[in-house]
Amino acid sequence: MARQLPSDSDLREETRSIPTPEDAPVLGARARTLVDALWNSVQESLVLVDESGRITEWNRASERIYGWSRRDVLGRLFSEIMGEQVRLQAGDNEGVEPGRTEARRTTACGREVILETIIIEQLDAEGRTTGWVESGIDVTRHRRAAWAAEAEQRHYRNVFHAIPASVWDIDFSKARATALAWLDGVDEPPLTWFSARPDKVRELMRSTFARDVNEQAMSLFGARSRDDLLVSIERYWPDDSIGDFTAWLVSALDGQPFFSCETRQRRYDGQEFDALFTASFAPGTVEEGRLVVSIVDRSEITSSQAAVRESEAFYTDMFNTSAFSAWHLDARETKPIYAELRANGVVDLREHLAEHPGTLQRLMAAIKVVDVNCTTLQLFEASEYSDIVGGPITRYWPPDRLDALIGSLEASFNDQPIYKSLTRMCTLKGKEIDVLFTRSASSALHSAGQLLLAIVDMTDKVQAENALAEMQATLAHAARISSLGELTASIAHEVNQPLAAITANGEAALLRLQQPAPALEQLRQLTEEMISDARRASDVVAHIRSLASPQSGEHLEVCVNSIVREALTLVGSQLERCGVAAVLELKPGPAVTLGNAVQLQQVLVNLILNALHAARGRPGARVVLGTSESEDVVVLTVEDNGTGIPPEIVGRLFDSFFTTKADGMGIGLAICRTIVEAHGGEISAANIPSGGARFTVRLPRAGHR
Ligand code: ADP
Repeated sequence: MARQLPSDSDLREETRSIPTPEDAPVLGARARTLVDALWNSVQESLVLVDESGRITEWNRASERIYGWSRRDVLGRLFSEIMGEQVRLQAGDNEGVEPGRTEARRTTACGREVILETIIIEQLDAEGRTTGWVESGIDVTRHRRAAWAAEAEQRHYRNVFHAIPASVWDIDFSKARATALAWLDGVDEPPLTWFSARPDKVRELMRSTFARDVNEQAMSLFGARSRDDLLVSIERYWPDDSIGDFTAWLVSALDGQPFFSCETRQRRYDGQEFDALFTASFAPGTVEEGRLVVSIVDRSEITSSQAAVRESEAFYTDMFNTSAFSAWHLDARETKPIYAELRANGVVDLREHLAEHPGTLQRLMAAIKVVDVNCTTLQLFEASEYSDIVGGPITRYWPPDRLDALIGSLEASFNDQPIYKSLTRMCTLKGKEIDVLFTRSASSALHSAGQLLLAIVDMTDKVQAENALAEMQATLAHAARISSLGELTASIAHEVNQPLAAITANGEAALLRLQQPAPALEQLRQLTEEMISDARRASDVVAHIRSLASPQSGEHLEVCVNSIVREALTLVGSQLERCGVAAVLELKPGPAVTLGNAVQLQQVLVNLILNALHAARGRPGARVVLGTSESEDVVVLTVEDNGTGIPPEIVGRLFDSFFTTKADGMGIGLAICRTIVEAHGGEISAANIPSGGARFTVRLPRAGHR
């Protein structure tokens, strides 16, 4: 706002004669004392500036307000001290008296002060400017308080409008005054007096007005505009609610801090609804006749309560009927223990528990079972809820399988909402069960110290998985045995030694026989050594064969279709990853051979992996696995649409250490042949005209070996 200098001529006339200490010499001693006293006794800062802008006088109030002493500032430029020119003051002058300007200045010690200033020009007899007197009132505190009040009011207004309930700012000053006047001299309790005079209550309603309402009030009362509601509240209070209004009125007159009741209210269109009415009487506002009330539609509360009840019922149903074992645990007492551990600098709970088993015991003892569902009773072999509910959790954990329990405690300690683990637990009868253990604590549950456990019985699945793991272990074993390819390399060495010994002994024996009188004893010895060497050689061969051939006890009927399927489960995901489709062309019905299923699977796996290597990366890459049978033979085929076998290597495919791959071992097919032959069968390879290779395994049908 533009600076408003006192410019009217009256003021000029008057200001021209304002005496300042400078005028003192011409005023005489008495007058000078008087001016000095006046100049220094006022609350306003008075600063005299000459026409060059230098400070020539500075009163006590200026010293107090600005922190500069008179001595410090005399002769210095006004602009230097005040940070602005004497005539050029800027600022937002809203709320400043006319003729005054608001100035923000910095004191000697750097504090900001706010002053309302007025500048009076000093003129000489000819009307020339000789300087200025600036007077300033320190309004810093006053302004700050006003800003704080404004901020508070803004904040209040924000809350007023943001609150999700209808809020009314009510003026009942008139009604209050009237009511107090009526009650003056009345002996009866006010409630009794008003209850007997509903017409008087109506009159008070009429003189009670809404000063402001929020958006929610407008929508709840169906008002078209705010003005519809900024009237007497009488319209919104049906006759049935006069009693409630009376109770509210009396509590307000009585200075109660809070009032709440269930009542009926009327919308703008006349429709009535059940409301929850709450009034809060802030200290000091009642005397002013000001109240804030909130009105909430009870049907909304009722429906949200119903929703809560419904979700509780849903939760209860789910808890009770779920197929997994559900547990509700109270872990509130673990909180102080965790707090204590944290205070002692524990960061890694697992590590701490490993060293302090006592803490684990304390934590376990601090967790109580609040509730379990029916499935829990069955799974944990309990006959009644009380067998589990209220009891300790310790007994469900075998001492050697505390991993999941510790993991779960660690999750709580680290505020993780979910923890899952495959583990083993104990039933009440001591049976160990494999379970998928899940602990869940949403943030609401967690802060209430509550936990939910879902325990799924995995016994069947674990059995299946165990079988798979066992099978894999067996396969690994089989692979080890089947490193016959490697063994074949040493066979020659193993067998050659006894053979060489036999040859040497045979030759020695022949030489002895050629003598006229052969030493029969020596011949006997040589012959015995030859026999034992021959046995050694045949033992080596027998041993190697025995490694590959199924043991007599393992000669079981094996369905070749299931061998194909099982082999496929082992390498199916690998085929999928490499984009090679697997096609099954299995002869229906049992094509059965006698043998070792694991070893035959190994053959199939080798053949499928070779087919995968040959076909992958080609368009429509696939492996066709087929079975068929004739009277005495069952046939397995593995066919691919890959590179095919170069004709020059066809004859060497099954040789040990023959490979065309940079990283190949060249023993896969050799193993296959050893196994197949050990089963009395044969394996062959051929290219197919359409491209790719076909490997055929023929095995004797069960009963035809
Ligand atoms: P490796 O796979 O380690 O090379 P194998 O004895 O399993 O050893 O295979 C020997 C060789 O036979 C392979 O290097 C490859 O040249 C050839 N071979 C095997 N299967 C196929 C096939 N399905 N298509 C084309 N070549 C094949």
